[in-house]
Amino acid sequence: MTHIKTDRTSGGIAVLTLDHANSSTNLISPEWAVEFSDALDGLFADDAVKGIVITSAKDGFMAGADLDFMSRAFTTKEALEFSRSVSNAFRRLETGGKPVAAVLVGAALGGGFELALACHRRFFSDDPAVQFGLPEVNVGLLPGAGGTQRLQRLLGAEKALDLLLGGRSMTAAEAVELGIGETPAPGVTPLEAAFAWLASGPEPLQPWDRKGNMARHKLGLLDHSNAALFSMMTAKVAARTHHNYPAQPAILSAVFEGMQLHFDKALEVESKYFARLLSGDVAQNIVRTVFVNRRRAQNLAARPKGVAKMSFGKIGILGAGMMGAGIAYSAARAGSKVVLIDRNEDAANAGKEHVRGLLDKLVQRDRTSNEEAAAILDRILPTTDYTSLQGANLVVEAVFEDSAVKADVIKVAAAQLSAEAVFASNTSTLPITGLAENSTRPERFIGLHFFSPVERMPLVEMIIGKRTSQETIAHAMDFVGHLRKLPILVKDSRGFYTSRVFLSYVNEGVAMLDEGIPAALIENAARFAGMPTGPLAVTDEVSLDLPVMIAQQAKADLGENYREPCGYGVMTRMISEFDRHGRKYGAGFYEYGSGGKRLWPELASHFPSDSRYPSSQEIGERLLHVQALEAVRCVEEGVIEDPRDADLGSIFGIGFPTYTGGTLSYVDTVGIGKFVERCEALEKAVGERFKASDWLKQRAAEGLSFHG
Ligand code: NAD
Repeated sequence: MTHIKTDRTSGGIAVLTLDHANSSTNLISPEWAVEFSDALDGLFADDAVKGIVITSAKDGFMAGADLDFMSRAFTTKEALEFSRSVSNAFRRLETGGKPVAAVLVGAALGGGFELALACHRRFFSDDPAVQFGLPEVNVGLLPGAGGTQRLQRLLGAEKALDLLLGGRSMTAAEAVELGIGETPAPGVTPLEAAFAWLASGPEPLQPWDRKGNMARHKLGLLDHSNAALFSMMTAKVAARTHHNYPAQPAILSAVFEGMQLHFDKALEVESKYFARLLSGDVAQNIVRTVFVNRRRAQNLAARPKGVAKMSFGKIGILGAGMMGAGIAYSAARAGSKVVLIDRNEDAANAGKEHVRGLLDKLVQRDRTSNEEAAAILDRILPTTDYTSLQGANLVVEAVFEDSAVKADVIKVAAAQLSAEAVFASNTSTLPITGLAENSTRPERFIGLHFFSPVERMPLVEMIIGKRTSQETIAHAMDFVGHLRKLPILVKDSRGFYTSRVFLSYVNEGVAMLDEGIPAALIENAARFAGMPTGPLAVTDEVSLDLPVMIAQQAKADLGENYREPCGYGVMTRMISEFDRHGRKYGAGFYEYGSGGKRLWPELASHFPSDSRYPSSQEIGERLLHVQALEAVRCVEEGVIEDPRDADLGSIFGIGFPTYTGGTLSYVDTVGIGKFVERCEALEKAVGERFKASDWLKQRAAEGLSFHG
């Protein structure tokens, strides 16, 4: 066997140890399920074995299903077979006539926790590394190896649903309190406790296999408490997911139907729901982008090969404002010494104070100790003195978004740096190739576009200028990896990638107001489609001045090739006629008061609604299509080379809905042919911004999807 070892002790207890080959964690795959069943067959057939302990040779018990395997395309039949193979093996474990104890170390998550639930008893220490949970919902799935059925029978439907729908982990203490397992008395290890329990000759029967256990659930909705719980949960789930995430209702159904059925039947029902989810688009999209491709990007898979790794003992940051301070915080936490430069001492010190505030919060939440926080803060040197940059391997520039100011600091800093040092700009709009000309080493110049707030946003858009070298890309990527952030590669172009897609959303939403679609409908339809914030609210957040300023800059740069973005007229009216610039100024599309915000009531009189307008579904679809089409253009223009980067950037940078798997997965899911057809219809209805290019039409004709 490659992933499982079995040992027999003289006392008749067999120990089955999970020890996955070629992986630091134990994972479930079809191959594993066969091996596990074979191991059980051997143990059950051996009369000398009186009881079984299942444990792990790794730091954790088991992480669940192998997501690389789960990311391939499944038919419903294949998905059902996979679920059944594991579910049947676990069922065999609990009905094989021998008592089984799980000895849990570290994390038992997903299928790992389901395996533990199929054991007759669970033993673990109260070590903080111990963690249990069923996070399947986070990847658009449900536990398909008995988890939905065993948990509800152990805890009752309400507590089980809380864990199943929340997908959160619990600590050892919480698991003990819920009655899921036990921590032995001081001085006794979980393994010793399991051996002692098995030696006492316990009955190998789960509560749900005892006679008469089912009766109280048979009433279904006729039971008042069930009726209240399930109607409330159904409404809650709908409100939270807007029907975009099928896993949540499937979990409710599996629990509800399963509670009324014999256990074996209930497992079959669970497998069917699981199979439908695993073979459906949403789980496939989430697993591919959010897990497989994100991990790939975090492991720096796109890093140019053959370049020696760079380390970041010391770095410099120019501009100690909101972004500079955030980057300083991330770098100092990652262990770098940070020289934080601003125009004067007060501004530089203010940046460091901002970091102190962030660290205080971490300490308050017990996420770090006072000593560690102090050590992190100590690594930051606020100053105005550029000579302090000497010896830094990398400098990030985050001064005002003004090319003259940036040119100035780039020149001054470059004079202090070695020839190997990387110079990165955090500009959100200025072309990197142009900025690089201020440096004596434009090949060592790159854009690192962080997102606000830096401490929470994982994405970094790496902008490659015309002269940026492969070594510079590799080293800048090392820096992004050092900060444990998520890099995507983008060619230098107006708006780079994420800002282009984001602006298409903002402009489209604002344009709808001009078409006579009521503001509340636009905002709600966007959220129903899965966007975290409506386009009008998000425009208020970034301020209306920003898209207007970007349009004016484009006009100045592009001359007669400039096309006024849709929605521009509404924004300029809002600014110049009504003096409403956005949230920062207390007035935008919304008004902001002590009781929260609400849409500005006068919007309806200045932008009157038409008597006929599209459905919420059509509006939501249009808002997703416009962003996806912009992402397609970025691929066509070579701004984005790898479609995986487009997906990651859209989800982790600008909140494109997770269930879609990102902008280009969305096009694939709609179907590229249908996507083009819809764009053509929208082009006729609302304007040429929906025009599908010949390149896209050709792809559609050839049936070429972005992810193959
Ligand atoms: P900010 O106004 O908060 O900070 C800019 C800082 O630069 C200020 O502390 C200012 O004193 C300092 N500064 C200005 N001129 C300087 C000079 N000559 N020498 C040294 N320091 C100088 O701005 P911010 O929001 O942190 O943005 C900084 C950069 O990051 C901009 O290029 C912006 O476009 C970009 N950016 C911002 C965001 C965002 O959401 N705010 C997101 C991504 C990128």
